[in-house]
Amino acid sequence: MRLVSPLLKRVVYPALHGSGWLDRMTPPGDCAVVSYHGLIPSDHSGGEAFLDGNLVHPQGFRQQVQFLKTHYHVIRPDDFRAWIEQGKPLPARAVLLTCDDGLLNTFTDMLPVLQSEGVSCLFFVTAASCTDTPGMLWYEELYHLMRTRPLNKPELQLPMEESTEPESSGSFQSLWWNTVRRASQLDLGTRTEWMARVRSHYGQKQFGSERRWRLLNVSELKQLAEAGMSIGAHTRSHPVLSLCTEEEARREILESKLDIERALGRPVWTLAYPFGNPSTMGEREMRLARESGFACAFLNVEHWGAEASNPFMICRTHVTSDMTLSEFDAHLSGLHSRLQRAAGG
Ligand SMILES: [Zn+2]
Repeated sequence: MRLVSPLLKRVVYPALHGSGWLDRMTPPGDCAVVSYHGLIPSDHSGGEAFLDGNLVHPQGFRQQVQFLKTHYHVIRPDDFRAWIEQGKPLPARAVLLTCDDGLLNTFTDMLPVLQSEGVSCLFFVTAASCTDTPGMLWYEELYHLMRTRPLNKPELQLPMEESTEPESSGSFQSLWWNTVRRASQLDLGTRTEWMARVRSHYGQKQFGSERRWRLLNVSELKQLAEAGMSIGAHTRSHPVLSLCTEEEARREILESKLDIERALGRPVWTLAYPFGNPSTMGEREMRLARESGFACAFLNVEHWGAEASNPFMICRTHVTSDMTLSEFDAHLSGLHSRLQRAAGG
C-alpha cells in the first residue's frame, strides 16, 4: 500500500474529490469523527516536524471545516451524546469534530475559527488543565530535551520493559519512544519526580511559542467550555495506558473525569484514550473506561480490527499537517480505509 499511496494522494483522490464522486459514497457507520491535535500558531517557528505533524495550519483547518459544512452535517457533541445514550437518530452524513490534548492554541487559535464558522468541537484534555500551571505534555518535553543530547546519566535510567524488544533501530524517534514507554510504567508521582530530575539535568530550556507547547490552564479551560465547546477526559497525565498497572490505569482514567467535573461543575461523559492505537491500549482500557462511568470512548485510528459497534472503541480520522483536502475527503468518505483493507493494510 505504501507504494500506491503517492498515486492515491496526488492523482486518484484529487480526481474523485474534484468530480464530486466522493459525495456519492456513504461514509461507514452512523457518524464520521475527525480528530485534531490543535493548530500551528502564527508565532511558532523552527519546530520539530515529527511532533508538529499532528497539528494543522489555521488556513487548512478553516478550509476543512467549510468543506464539512457543505458536504456533511456537522453535529454538536451533545447530539452525539444523545445518539450514544438514548439512540436519538443523527442526520445523514453526520460528522463530529474532536481535538485532543488541550494545547493552548486550541483556545487562542482554534476556538476563533470554530466560532466564526458556527460549529462546536469536543475537546479532550488531561487533568493537568485543571491546574493553574499545567506545563507541557511530558513526552513532548522529553522529545525536546533528548534532542539536545542523549539521556544517559545512570541515575536517570528507567526500569526496562518486561516484554520489550531490545533498544530498537537506534533512530532518535525510536530511542525517545522507548523512553516514553518505560516512563509510562512509573506511577504519576514517580514520573513527575523523574521528569523534574531530567529537567534539572538538562538545565533551563525555552521551547519558543507558548501557544504551541503549553497546555490550557484551568481558567482557559473554563473559557473554552463557556464558549459552548464540550470537554471530555484524556487521562490525568497521558501515559501509554497499556504499560501502567491496572490500578494506575484506572486512576489515570477515572480521576481525570473527576478532576474535570470538579473544575467545570458539569458531567464529563466521554474519554479519548491517549495515543489511542492498538500498541498503547486494548480490552483492559475499554473495560476501565466503561467502569469509570463514561458513556463512550474514542480511539485515534480509522479502523480497529473487526468492525464492531462498541461505544468504547469509536474510530476517528486523525488529521495531519500534510493532509490535502482531497485526502481528507477520501478518508471521511470511507474510501481510504476500504482501499487499505482491500490491499491488506
Ligand atoms: Zn493525546
